[in-house]
Formats: sequence, C-alpha cells, structure tokens
Amino acid sequence: MSITDITGTATGATSAPAAPPRRHEHWINGAAVPPAGGAYFPTRSPATREPGDEIAAGTAADVELAVAAASAAWPAWAARPAAERADVLHAVADAMAAGAAELTELERATTGKTDGQLKLEIDMSVAYFRYYAGVLRALHGRTIDLGAGAHAYTRLEPYGVIGAITPWNLPLNQASRALAPALAVGNAVVAKPSEFTSTSTVRLARLATEAGLPDGLLNVVTGTGPEVGGPLAAHPLVRKVAFTGSVLTGRHLAGVAGDRLIPVTLELGGKSPVVVFADADLDRAAAAAAGAIQANSGQVCSATTRLLVEDSVHDEVVARVVERLERLRPGVDFGPIITEAQFDKVLAAFAQAARDGLTPLTGGAAYDDGPGAAGQYVRPTVYADVPPTHPLAREEVFGPVLVTRRFSDEADALAMANDSDYGLVASVWSGDVARGLRLAEGIQAGQVAVNGGPLTIETPFGGYKSSGYGREKGLEALHDYAQTKTISLSLG
Ligand code: ADP
Repeated sequence: MSITDITGTATGATSAPAAPPRRHEHWINGAAVPPAGGAYFPTRSPATREPGDEIAAGTAADVELAVAAASAAWPAWAARPAAERADVLHAVADAMAAGAAELTELERATTGKTDGQLKLEIDMSVAYFRYYAGVLRALHGRTIDLGAGAHAYTRLEPYGVIGAITPWNLPLNQASRALAPALAVGNAVVAKPSEFTSTSTVRLARLATEAGLPDGLLNVVTGTGPEVGGPLAAHPLVRKVAFTGSVLTGRHLAGVAGDRLIPVTLELGGKSPVVVFADADLDRAAAAAAGAIQANSGQVCSATTRLLVEDSVHDEVVARVVERLERLRPGVDFGPIITEAQFDKVLAAFAQAARDGLTPLTGGAAYDDGPGAAGQYVRPTVYADVPPTHPLAREEVFGPVLVTRRFSDEADALAMANDSDYGLVASVWSGDVARGLRLAEGIQAGQVAVNGGPLTIETPFGGYKSSGYGREKGLEALHDYAQTKTISLSLG
C-alpha cells in the first residue's frame, strides 16, 4: 500500500461526525515544515484500534532540508562555552516538564501505555536533558605530560550532524536518550522517530525551539525507514548515526555506516536472563521476573525474559510469578502491543509454540473479551521448561512472554545465561553476594543487576554480541557523541 493509499483510507473513513485528524508536520530549522511530497500517514491507537492524528510522510527532500539546517547550525553551538549549552538544555528540560501533560497525551494516543508507564517515561525523558546539561560542564579533555618542551592536550569535539533513528516502544524516552547527550557535546541532530509513534518527538523539538534551543540544532523528519531513515544514514553530511531498533535494520545500517566510514551506535534486541538461586529472596526475584514482562508489556529491548531458576526452587518461583501475572489488568497494569505487526508477531509465536507442543502455564493468547478485547492486548504469558533450542527460548518476542529453564549449579547457571546470541542486560538473584558478583562478571552482557541493583541514566547501557555496540546513558554516551582531538605544541 502506498503512502497516498494509507492517507486516503484514513481520511476517507471519517464519514461520521468525528473531528478531522490533526496533522503533525516535520520540525526543521525551528519551524513546522510540511512534507515536500505532500503526503501524510494516519496513526492508530493500539488501545482502541481507532485512527488518530496524521504525521508528515517524509522523503529524501525533507531529509536534505533538515541536514542542511543542522549542518549550518552546529558550529556556532559547538563554539559556545559548555556552561551556556548547559543552560539551554536545562531550559529545554523545564519546557518538557511544563509541557508534560501534552507530551503524555501525544504518547498515549499512539502507544496506549498506562498512566504509570507514561509518567515514568516522560519523567525520564526530562531527566536525560537535566543529567546531560549537568555533566556536560564537567566534560573536559586532558593534558598529556610530554616533558618540559611541549604542551599536549585533548579536546572532545562534536561530530557535527548526528542522525538519530528511534523505535516505537519508548518513543520520547529513546529520542531523549540520544538527543540530550548529542546536543550537549555540541552536535546538531536530525531525528527520525518511528513512523508509528512520531508525534511526541516532533513536539519535543517544538518545545526545545520555544525554550531557546537555536534553530537547526534539533530537526525531526517523520516517515518510514526506507523513505527517511535510509536517506538520513546515507547523507554525506551526517557524521554519525545513533540507532535503536531491530537487529535486521541495525545490521543494514551498520553496513551503510561501514561503507561511509562513519560510526554508528547500535542498540538492538535482547533475550536477557534473570538468574535465581535457591538462596535468593524468592519473592523479590519473582516480583522482578513478573515486572520484567509487565513493564511496557515486555516491549523493552532490555526486558529479562529468560527466567533461569535453580532446580530445587524452580516450581515455587514460577508459581509465584504466575500468580502475580494473573492479577494484572489490561489497560490498568499493562498496555497493549503498540503496532499491529508486532501484535500479529506475538500471536504467531504463540501459534508456533502450540504447534510444537508447548503449553503456557498462563496466557498464550490475546484478550477476546473484557476491556482488553478492544485493543491489541496480550495476556501476560509464561512457558516453563522451554527447550533451549526452541525459538521461544532464543528469539526476542517483544511482548509479555517469559520462558523458564532450570539449572543445577553455578556453572550451569552461567552457561545457560550466556547461551544466547544477545547480551544486553542480565539480572542475578542470590543470598550469596560474592556468587552474585561472580555471575555478574561472567555474564556476557552490557549491564548486570545483582539483587535488584538499580540501572539508571547514570549507568552506561549497551550491548554485547548481537545486542549491538556503543553506549547510551552515563558519561559514556557523551564520549560516544564526541571525537577526541589531540593538540600538541612545541615550547622550544
Ligand atoms: P521494528 O521492527 O521494531 O519497528 P525497526 O528496526 O524496523 O524496528 O525500526 C526502528 C527504526 O528504524 C524506525 O524508526 C524505523 O522506521 C527505522 N528503519 C526501519 N528500516 C530502516 C532502514 N532501512 N533504514 C533506516 N531506518 C530504518
């Protein structure tokens, strides 16, 4: 179906007295800009399946305009003292906090998320700007002692124009995670949010402009991956790409970046383990395991969806997890699957499991009655003792689905935890803290939480293995959006 067909379907379907859909244009060089091709996409609420606002269907011509604006804007921004850039980013954070209700409604309309989840994500989006506005002022190069005859030092310089391509699961949050450190270092950004959930990122750019971010530093071009993301990553003036999304697209963009010899940060999928030993606080561990698929209905790349439990307590832990999940209410405690394609994918995974003789302990279906039936809600699901070779145990489902296995001892637990192509995060629960740390050091993943240790904006985040490379969050992200220059002066 072409873009025009999709737009036609949405607008043509509004025969009843419904208000015409609102349109969200691109945000380029500090202003709303209609798409060069004149086409728009409908959006759709996954909570009700009803059509919503329309977004600009971008093309390479829009990307060209945005990259030109970004390219013109960044040198003056980078030349300003860090303290001034920090002040502007604090003002952006203030504007986001003041506009939180509007950002929340835009996010709710395209994702159907619960109130609690929305609050968490909007607050964290604001916090990214505050954090990077703060640490930016402590970001310096270093001097290198080469003896009395020389003065050598490093500078952390921006790349120039960054292309930020983000997914639909945590729209404003993923955008803020990339934009705040990229801007802090002195770059300009052209953001390409997911075509399913673009509106909050466009509004963020407008709020930033209104808060005093100079024109051209934060541009948002909406549209599909091939129509907008492709031309963005390929544009000769884009000097780095920050990508969050699927392994398939990440692999493709790594190829594009490889050809162009530009760096790319890839934050891809995961099939992360939660390892529970018999001596752990079993209730807290069970709550964490259930919470992992409740949060955003498992549509989080870092969700710990492989529950590995010591044999002697496996059944007890799994029973506690199931009991917790069965109390959850759709629309109140967890949201819908955000895209229709993803909803179908989760249901297809259930169908495949059934064909292979796997029966869930709970869930394994969408809602066909009650409040969940109106939207793309999937019942929180647990499959126990899934064979390690089965796709359910190996592939990311990106839905509220937990699979379990049992282990016999520490070595067995470590081997199981690492038996994955992915390596994004892991969670370990044990009453023996030294053992917890041994496991954490042995697990091949970018982040490991022991006994519920917090993972925050301050803690660097990124993948091992097929989960990608580069680091978001923490001071590491600032370094990832900067390139180091050495300057050396002879004093002789
Ligand atoms: P998902 O399948 O979960 O939607 P994707 O990797 O397809 O994950 O999407 C993540 C982001 O990447 C979205 O903004 C999407 O539009 C974009 N994207 C998809 N395909 C491409 C592509 N070929 N080039 C650049 N960006 C793309």
